[in-house]
Amino acid sequence: MKIIRDIKSLQDAKRELRGSIGFVPTMGALHAGHLSLMTKAKSQNDHLIVSIFVNPTQFLEGEDLESYPRKEEADSKICQLAGVDILFMPTSESMYERDELRIGAPAIKGYILDGEKRPGHFDGMLQVVMKLLNLSGANRAYFGKKDAQQLALVTQMARNYFLPCEIIPCEIVRDERGLALSSRNAYLTEEQKSRALFLSKSLKRATKKVMAGEVECDVIISEMRAVLEGVERVDYIAIVNRNFERLERVELGNTIILVAAWVGDTRLIDNLWI
Ligand code: AMP
Repeated sequence: MKIIRDIKSLQDAKRELRGSIGFVPTMGALHAGHLSLMTKAKSQNDHLIVSIFVNPTQFLEGEDLESYPRKEEADSKICQLAGVDILFMPTSESMYERDELRIGAPAIKGYILDGEKRPGHFDGMLQVVMKLLNLSGANRAYFGKKDAQQLALVTQMARNYFLPCEIIPCEIVRDERGLALSSRNAYLTEEQKSRALFLSKSLKRATKKVMAGEVECDVIISEMRAVLEGVERVDYIAIVNRNFERLERVELGNTIILVAAWVGDTRLIDNLWI
């Protein structure tokens, strides 16, 4: 596995690769969720490139940019074991210049839900993903459904900018109790982890209602809200279609139920695709 930190070396190393390239962009502190993306990418491509970059432009003022977990050594080992060909870990200086051309998230889909709670987050995310897709030269790039709105926006960017890269959605990986894996779970105490389970529990309650024939989104959302009594603060509960338009009634095969909530000082998100 080559560990590359500068852009010129990445471009040189890429020239030597023959065949298809799968790409998994991450912010590091790797866990089994990231690993599942790598495994899928590896199985569908001749080569695998992974990036680790805690992208400053997608963090808002006062968010956890400084404290975001950084575990370069352990992450490198995981990538080595996963059969990664190139691990790209650039510096911020090499990725950005001062007065950058900006890519903007779409006016509606980029500014609802997480985009409303974290205004500007998706602009920064799309900006770095555009750079990383171009740098990797990937034929396919792998994104988790865990970040459903991010996945939808990246898919739209690839479509709107005619990028020669297929965006591949990957299933959410959870721990044995149902908590969606996230690098930010490292912030949680054991007691907080138990309370964090209310997110996935609320989605399970929603599943139960839908299985019992309930289709009214208002009813499902109020059931979920009752389960979420156990967390400090709920940012949103929403039911949208795959294009992120609000639904009044669940459409089987075209629905995403999303929740964002705070446990202590940690903001968590989870969702369910039905
Ligand atoms: P991050 O390092 O948090 O930016 O995540 C990098 C990629 O891994 C994104 O496409 C995430 O959606 C994906 N990812 C994060 N957590 C999970 C999970 N629990 N299951 C599946 N994919 C995930």
